[in-house]
Amino acid sequence: MKKPQAPQEEPAAAEADGVDPVQLQNLWTLVDNLDILFYVKDKKGRYLFVNKALAAVFGTDPARVIGKTDARFVDVAASGIAATDYQALSSGEKVDAEEVVCLRDGSCRTFRTVKIPLFDPAGRVRGLCGISTDITDQRRAVDELIERNELLNTILQNVDAAIYLKDQQGRYIYANGPVLALYARALPDLIGRTDRELMPPEIAARVAEYDAEVLAGAGDEVREETIIGADGCKHHFRSRKVALQLPGHPVCLIGFSTEITELRGLRKRLEHERITDSLTGLANRGMFESSLEEQLVMAALHGTRLAVVIIDFDGFKYINNNYGQGIGDQLIQVVGQRLQQCNVALGSLARLSGDEFAFTLPRAATIEEVARQLEQIRAFLAQPYTLLREPLHLTFSAGISLSNASQYSASELLGRAEAAMYSAKDNGRDQYRFYSPELGTTVARRVELERDLRAAMGSSEFALHYQPKMRRDGSIAGFEALIRWNRPGVGLVAPDNFIPLAEQLGLLLHLGRWVIEQACRQIAAWRDAGLGTIPVAVNLSTSQLTSAALPDYVFDLMREHRIDPGCLEMELTESMMMSDPDLAIAILHRLRSGGVALSIDDFGTGFSSMSYLRQLPVNYLKLDRSFVRNVAVDEKDADLCAGIMALAHKLDMHVVAEGVETLEQHETLAACDCDLFQGFLFSQPMSAQVATEFLRSRH
Ligand code: C2E
Ligand code: CA
Ligand code: CA
Repeated sequence: MKKPQAPQEEPAAAEADGVDPVQLQNLWTLVDNLDILFYVKDKKGRYLFVNKALAAVFGTDPARVIGKTDARFVDVAASGIAATDYQALSSGEKVDAEEVVCLRDGSCRTFRTVKIPLFDPAGRVRGLCGISTDITDQRRAVDELIERNELLNTILQNVDAAIYLKDQQGRYIYANGPVLALYARALPDLIGRTDRELMPPEIAARVAEYDAEVLAGAGDEVREETIIGADGCKHHFRSRKVALQLPGHPVCLIGFSTEITELRGLRKRLEHERITDSLTGLANRGMFESSLEEQLVMAALHGTRLAVVIIDFDGFKYINNNYGQGIGDQLIQVVGQRLQQCNVALGSLARLSGDEFAFTLPRAATIEEVARQLEQIRAFLAQPYTLLREPLHLTFSAGISLSNASQYSASELLGRAEAAMYSAKDNGRDQYRFYSPELGTTVARRVELERDLRAAMGSSEFALHYQPKMRRDGSIAGFEALIRWNRPGVGLVAPDNFIPLAEQLGLLLHLGRWVIEQACRQIAAWRDAGLGTIPVAVNLSTSQLTSAALPDYVFDLMREHRIDPGCLEMELTESMMMSDPDLAIAILHRLRSGGVALSIDDFGTGFSSMSYLRQLPVNYLKLDRSFVRNVAVDEKDADLCAGIMALAHKLDMHVVAEGVETLEQHETLAACDCDLFQGFLFSQPMSAQVATEFLRSRH
C-alpha cells in the first residue's frame, strides 16, 4: 500500500502535540481506504491530500491528483464544486451541501459533501478539508420515487373519479381533485374531517354504514351511493371501497367513486320514455298491460271484477286533416287531461295509440255500474273543446270487456275491449258496447280475412268483372270494372267484403293500381280485337285521391296501352275527397286534363252540394241505386231524379242511373232525360271473357 500523500506540516504538528506517529499513520491508512471521499485543498484549490476513493472518482491514482486543481479532472463550469469551495473558504465556516460533479467522460455524480475550512495559527483560512459521500444511486432512487409519486398524483388528480382514503374513524386521510371539488374544500381543509361534517346526518350515516361494512371485511362489491355535495344537490356515485392494510399502519379504507348522476338521469328518462306516451305523459300500451296484469291478480284475490275500457275519437282523421296535426295533438292531450280530471276513479289510464285511450274501472261491481260510470265519462268528454275559435264537439266510441276471476290475460281483455269498440264504431259511433262472444267470432273472422288479404296481394287471386252502361238506344256506352277476389277455400268475394279492410290496411293503393292497369289492358285488348274503342270505368279509393303520384302513373299506363282520351274513366264518391279536398281536387284536375273521364259515384247518398260539384271537372253523375229503386212507384223520387237530371245537364254533366232492375225504372228514368243506364236489367257484372262475348253479340 502506498503511503498517503499527507500535507507535510500536519503529521509534524501532530507529533508536536504529542500524537503517536504510528497511530497517525494508521489513521491515514484508514482514511485512505475509506469508501467516502476525503481530501484537503489549499486556498487556490490545489489538492494537498486525496484518498484513493477520490482519485478513483477522477479515474487516476492519488499521486496524480496532488498539486492539481479540479479543472484537471472535472467540467468545473458544469459542476458545483467551485461554488462550495468558495463558500467555505470565504466564510470560514463549515459548508454542508449536495454537489454534482460532472466528469470529463460526461458522466455526473452526486455527492453529499461537508467542507471544513482549515486555519493557520493566525486564524487565516489556509485551505479546506472535504468529506464527500457518493449518493448518486440513492438520489436516483429518490428521483425515481418522486417521479413515480408525481405520476401517481397526476393520475389521481385527473382521473374522472373520486378517490379517497379514510381512517377507521372515518376521517379523510387523502382525497383527490374530484372529492375536493364535490365538497368545495382544499385538501388541508378536508383532511381530518368526517362525512358528518360535510353532509346531512342521514346521508352521512348511510355512507358510514357502508364504510363500516367494508372495514369489517364485507361490502366489497360495487354499490350505488347518494351524496349531497357542497352545491346542496344530490350526487349519485357507483363506489367500490376496499379495506387497505399498509405495512406499519392501521387499517384504512380506500374508495373509488364514479359519478353517475347524469347517467342515472338518462336511465330514468329512458325508463320513463319506455313506459309513457310522450304526447300525453300517460302510460303507454306496454305499461298499461303490465299494470292491468297486476290489477287482475288483485281482483282475483279479492273476488272482484275489473272493467277494461277502450275509447276512440269518432272521425279523428277528419280533425287531423281539416285543422292540422297540431290541433289533433292538442286535442289528444286535452282528452288525456279530462280523463284524469273526471269524477270517476280510474284504476289505470293510458294512451294506446293515435286517438285510442284505455282505462280500467276498478270500482264498478255490476254491469249497470260500469255503464253508469262510462256515461259519466262520456258526458264529461262530450263537453265542447275550445282549442279553436269555434268550439269543437267530439264524440267517442267505447268498448268494454270484463274480467272473470283470473280467466283472461291482460292482452286478451284489451283485445276484447278493442273488438267491442270497433263494433261500436261499426254500429254508428258515439256509443259503447260490451264485449260478447259473438263479437269475438267477428273479430276472429276479421283477423283471418286480414291474413288472407295480405297474402293475396301480388297473387293472381283478383279479377275484374265488367258491367255495361247502356245508352237510351240500347247500345253499349262502356263498362264499369268491378273487382272480385277469388279467395282460396271461399270462392268469389264481393268488394264490399274486403275493400274497406284493404283500405284500412293500406293495401288499396297497390291494388288500385293493379285495377287501373288491368282496365287499360282490357281497353287495348278489345280495341286490338276489332271491337272498337270501349270506355272502361274504374272505381277509385280514398288513398288514391290523396296520392299526388296517381296522375303520372295513370298517364304512363295510358301511353303504354295507347288509350284514347275519354276512354279510361274513374268513379269516385264525394266522401272520398273529404280527407284532403284540396289535394283531391288538384289530382282530379290533372287527371281530367290528361284525358281521364270522371264520374261522381253513388250520387245522392253523400253530402252532395251542387255548388261544390261545380268546382270539380266531372263528366258524369251516377245516380245512386237508392233513388232508382222507387223511381217508378214514388212520384217524389221521380221528381227528385228529374231535378237532379236537369241540374246536371245545366252543369254539362251526363247522368248514369245505377241499379236499374226493371223496365218501369228504365222507362221512368228515360222520361226524366237520363243519359245512361246500368243494372241487372241489362246485365250482371261479367268476367272479361263473358263481357267480350257480350260485346261481340252487340257489335
Ligand atoms: P259501386 O261502384 O256502386 O258499384 C256498383 C255495385 O252495384 C256493384 O257491386 C254492382 O254489382 C252492383 N249492381 C249493379 N247493378 C245492380 C242492380 O241492378 N242491382 C243491385 N242490387 N246491384 C247492382 P259490387 O261489384 O259488389 O261492388 C260494390 C262496390 O265495391 C262498388 O260499388 C264499389 O264502390 C266497390 N268497388 C268495386 N270494385 C272496386 C275497385 O276496383 N276499387 C274500389 N276502390 N272499389 C271497388
Ligand atoms: Ca262505381
Ligand atoms: Ca255506385
